[in-house]
Amino acid sequence: MYKKRISALASASVVSLALLATGCSKQEQPTSTEAPAAEQVKEETAAVESNPFFEPWNTPFSAPPFDIIKTEHFLPAFEKAMTMHLEEVDAIANADSVPTFANTVEQLELSGAELSRVAYVFFNLTGTESNDEMQALQREISPKLTRHSNTIQMNEALFKRIKAVHDSRNDSNLKAEQIRLVERLYNEAVRSGANLEGEDREKFAKINERISSLTTEFGQNMLNDSRNFKLVLEEGDLAGMSQSMIDAASASAKAQGIEGKYLITLQRSSVEPFLQFSDRRDLREKAFKGWASRGDNDNEYDNKANVEEIVKLRSERAKLLGYKHHSDYVLSNTMASSPEAAMDLLMKVWTPAVAKAEQEKQWILELMKEQGADHEFAAWDWRYYAEKVRKARFDLDQGEIAQYFELNNMIEAKFYVAKQLFGLTFTERTDIPVYNDVVRVWEVKDASNNPIGLFFGDYYARPTKQSGAWMSAFRTQQKLAGDIKPLIINNMNLNQPADGEPTLMSYSDAVTLFHEFGHALHGLLSNVTYPTLAGTNVSRDWVEFPAQLYEHFIAQPYMLNKFARHYKTNKPMPEALIQRIKDASTFNQGFATIEYTASALVDMAYHKMTEVDSIDVRAFEDKILGDYGKPEEIIMRHRSTHFGHIFAGGYDSAYYAYMWSEILDSDGFNAFVEAGNIFDKETSQKLYDFVFSTGDTLNYEEAYKGFRGRAPTTDALLENRGFKTE
Ligand SMILES: [Zn+2]
Repeated sequence: MYKKRISALASASVVSLALLATGCSKQEQPTSTEAPAAEQVKEETAAVESNPFFEPWNTPFSAPPFDIIKTEHFLPAFEKAMTMHLEEVDAIANADSVPTFANTVEQLELSGAELSRVAYVFFNLTGTESNDEMQALQREISPKLTRHSNTIQMNEALFKRIKAVHDSRNDSNLKAEQIRLVERLYNEAVRSGANLEGEDREKFAKINERISSLTTEFGQNMLNDSRNFKLVLEEGDLAGMSQSMIDAASASAKAQGIEGKYLITLQRSSVEPFLQFSDRRDLREKAFKGWASRGDNDNEYDNKANVEEIVKLRSERAKLLGYKHHSDYVLSNTMASSPEAAMDLLMKVWTPAVAKAEQEKQWILELMKEQGADHEFAAWDWRYYAEKVRKARFDLDQGEIAQYFELNNMIEAKFYVAKQLFGLTFTERTDIPVYNDVVRVWEVKDASNNPIGLFFGDYYARPTKQSGAWMSAFRTQQKLAGDIKPLIINNMNLNQPADGEPTLMSYSDAVTLFHEFGHALHGLLSNVTYPTLAGTNVSRDWVEFPAQLYEHFIAQPYMLNKFARHYKTNKPMPEALIQRIKDASTFNQGFATIEYTASALVDMAYHKMTEVDSIDVRAFEDKILGDYGKPEEIIMRHRSTHFGHIFAGGYDSAYYAYMWSEILDSDGFNAFVEAGNIFDKETSQKLYDFVFSTGDTLNYEEAYKGFRGRAPTTDALLENRGFKTE
C-alpha cells in the first residue's frame, strides 16, 4: 500500500498528501467514513511565536525536527500555509503576462511548499502516533483542506492560463517531461469540470456533491449494518476454534458487555477464521449469510438504492464530460487506458480460474466423502474444507517458519537486493530526530556514493498506529526547487518482542516487508524535475508494479538460503520446508481468483452501462455472473451492497487494477529469470531507467516496453496462480 495523493489541479506539491492512507493489503482497503463534528482546538499565541513550521529545519537532510514539533503547532501552521498558498496561486492566475510553461506551470509546481511541509508531517503522524487530540485536529483540518483545494480547482483565471499553455504545448519547445506535466494538470482540471460552462458547470457541481454524500452514506451503512450483526456463542459452540480465536471472541464479547460469552463479528479478521475452522456447520451458515448480506437487509442501513443512484449519477457525469460511460472516464488516464483492455485481462484470468476451482472442489468433495459428511456442499463449507485439504496436502507449521524470518535479517535482505539491483547502500543514522524511539533511519547512497535520501523504518504495532502496512513520505523528490532529496518511510505492524528477544515474523510478513520496500525504492530512486510527477504519484494500475515486483526476490531460493536463517542456530531453512512453502503458494487460488474477479466483473458491468435504468442489485449480480458461469459455491469477495472499494473508496471501475499490477510483476520478474540471473545487470539497469527512476514522466505502456522489450503477457501471472496455460 502506498499513500494516495488527492488529485488537484496545480496544487501538486500540496494536496498530494492531504489524502494519505491507502492500505497496501492487496485486496483489502478498510474504508473509514466516520465524520464526527469538528472540535475546537485552541490556538496558542506562544505556539505561533516559536513554531518549527515557520523556521528552516537545520537537521541532516532537513528532516522534520520531531524533537521540537508539538501538536499545537499544526493548526496555526496549516492556516498560515494555506493563506500563503492561495496568495501564490492568485498571483499566478491574475498575472498580466502571456501564459507560458515557466510563468504558469512551473510557478504552480513551486507553490504551496509550506503547506506540503506541514501536511506531510501531520498526515504521517495521524497514521502512526494518533490520539484524541490529533483526531480532533484532523477533523478540524480535513474540511479546511478540501475547501482549500476546491478554491484552487474552481479558479477560472488559473484554468484559462493552464489551458493556454496546454493548447500551445507542442509549439513551445517543451521537453517530453514538461509536456506530460501540462497534459496531466490540464486533464485533471478538465476531469474536475473546469472546462464546463453555465448550466453544465452547475449540474456537474451538484452531481459531485450528491455523489459525495451518497458514498459517505454508503460507507456508514456498511459499517452500521455490519455492527448490527452479532453471532453470540456459548461455551458449547466453540468446536474447531483455536485458543487464540476463542480468546479474541471472548474479548469482543466482553467489549460489548456480554461477558462470559463469545462474539463473532463481521470484521474479516473475526468471521473469516470462524468460517475456516468452526466445526459447527449451522453456525458457519449463519455467519456466512450475515457476512454476504451486509448492506442488503432491507433495513435502515440498506445500500441497494445508494448503489443504483451512484451508478446513475456517475454515468451522467461521464456524459457531461464527453465520455461514453464512467469506465471510459476512469480508465482514460490509466495504463490499461480502456475498459476493453481491462475486461480482456479479467476474462483471461476468469476462464482458467473456473477450471482450477473445479479441481479444488473435487478435492473437497473427496475429503468430505472420506470424512463421511452427510450434507450438500454449500458456500459456507468452502473455507472450512479447503483448510482441511490444505493441512492434509501442504501442512505448514507457521511457528516453525517464523524462526527463519528474523526482522534484522530481513532488513539486511531487502537492502542487499537494492544493492545488487541499483548499487544502493544503507547506513543507519542515530542523529536524525524521530517521533517514536522504535523508528530507525538510514541514509541511502547511490553507486557513486552520493546521498540520495533518507529511509525511515517504523516496523512495530502500537495502540496509536493504524493497522496494516504502508509506504509514505515526509518529502518527495524534485529538482525544480533545488536538488530536493526524498524522505521515505515504511510502516509495518509487527508485534514488538520482549526486551532482548528477536522479532520473528511470518513468511507473508516478510513478503509484505519487501512489498513496502519496493514502494520505498520507487520514492527514493525517483529522478524527475517536477514534484507532481515524482515517485509513486502514478496511476493505480502502475503504482503496485514496483512493489509487487520486489516481492519476488524474497521468494528466490538464493535469497532464502542466504537470509532466511534460523534465529538461534543461523542454519538455512531446510530444503523440504522451502518446497512446502512453494507448493502451498498456489493452493486454493482458483477460489481466491473467482472471488476477486467476480467483484471486478460486476464493478466493470455497473460502470460500462451507457444508459442506466433502474437497477435491481441482486438480479444484476446474478445475471452478470451467471452469464460468465460462476461456480455456485463461490460468491463475490465484495457484494455490491458492501463493496466499499467502488462505492466509497475510489476504486470504481478500477478494482481490476490489483490484477493488472500482478500481470506486470509476474511478467516483469521473468525478465530476470530469462536472463538466468535474478540480479542481471542489464535488466536491472532497464528497470531503473524505465520504472524506478521515472515517476510519472513516461507513458506506462512505453515505460513497460522500455524495460521488458515488449508488451506484458498474462502467461507468468497464470502460472504463478497455478493455472494451466495452453
Ligand atoms: Zn502496495
